[in-house]
Amino acid sequence: VTFCHEVPKVELHAHLNGSLSRSTMLQLQRCLADLGMTDKSNAFLDEFQMSSGDSINLSEVFPLFVIAHELTSIPQTLAMATALTLQEFEDDGCCYIELRSTPKETLHMSYKQYIEAIIQTLKNNTASIIACLIISINRSSQQQEIEIITDLAIEYHKKYPDLVVGIELSGNPAVGKFQYFVPVLTKAREAGLKITLHCGEICNPQEVIEMLKFKPERIGHAVCIHPLYGGNDEIWQLLCKSQIPVEVCLTSNVSTKSTPDYSSHHFKELYNANIPISICTDDKGVFATSLSQEYRICAETFGIDPSKLARISLRSCDYIFSEDKRKTLSDKILNFINKNGL
Ligand code: 5GP
Repeated sequence: VTFCHEVPKVELHAHLNGSLSRSTMLQLQRCLADLGMTDKSNAFLDEFQMSSGDSINLSEVFPLFVIAHELTSIPQTLAMATALTLQEFEDDGCCYIELRSTPKETLHMSYKQYIEAIIQTLKNNTASIIACLIISINRSSQQQEIEIITDLAIEYHKKYPDLVVGIELSGNPAVGKFQYFVPVLTKAREAGLKITLHCGEICNPQEVIEMLKFKPERIGHAVCIHPLYGGNDEIWQLLCKSQIPVEVCLTSNVSTKSTPDYSSHHFKELYNANIPISICTDDKGVFATSLSQEYRICAETFGIDPSKLARISLRSCDYIFSEDKRKTLSDKILNFINKNGL
């Protein structure tokens, strides 16, 4: 347990509003109350975080995020949520994070103000964790919103290339078609943004093929790709050949019944096939987990010894979107490996 906490880790798949801890949510609530704003999340706060061992269908997870969105609907609380979440990751032994979030227009802020609130927090970050932003596009969004968000992602990437490093596609995988997003993702890519896609969360081999052929820098989940888990040989071979790094989210997949239990998680197949992987939390608030807990579950379930676990973290540095930080982070983890005789 101590080892999983102490090994320097990188987090490459964390949705801001899904990462809010109960303590953070209570602080946001207090802030809104101090500003004289009522929020409807109060009655639902207990429903946001799942109890350990509980599971719900993936489609039932998406309405839960609305509870967090109520709390981060003004710039002050959004900035606070970002700062508190970064601190929690740092306290958990995370040395680098690519936080992701979908810009939203609320009664109190524009899409631009949403991005500004997060960026300013990242800029003022006094914690030692290095933090960047990936802008999320929700699959359920309308064309106009998708274009606004992509253009803002490009604008902010130009302004803050070290902070806004990528763009990603998330939201309910049962809604929308990947092909619909190809033009905006291509535009973002041409402007220098790196791309990660939620891929194979539900069984849809045709979409997996389209996504892998698009050659994103990384993919998230990759559940239904191996033939054992709803995929097939063709897409599995395509993934093996492409060597696209996979952001693995063990507890998220088990909690949403995408995977029946930890021991039958496709981590095993990915790892044995030497597909690049990174261990991630997805939504540490909703799924009541932490990055060190995900490392511990991985080690215990699949018999990964400390030396191998540290090397999973080390190799994750090669997949981070901030290329100029890869060496510093690798050196930090290598240092830990050498100091501990791993
Ligand atoms: P936000 O973008 O509001 O900061 O974080 C919450 C959002 O992330 C959700 O509304 C949803 O669009 C996306 N998200 C969080 N977890 C998952 C997941 O497991 N799968 C998918 N496809 N999207 C997710």
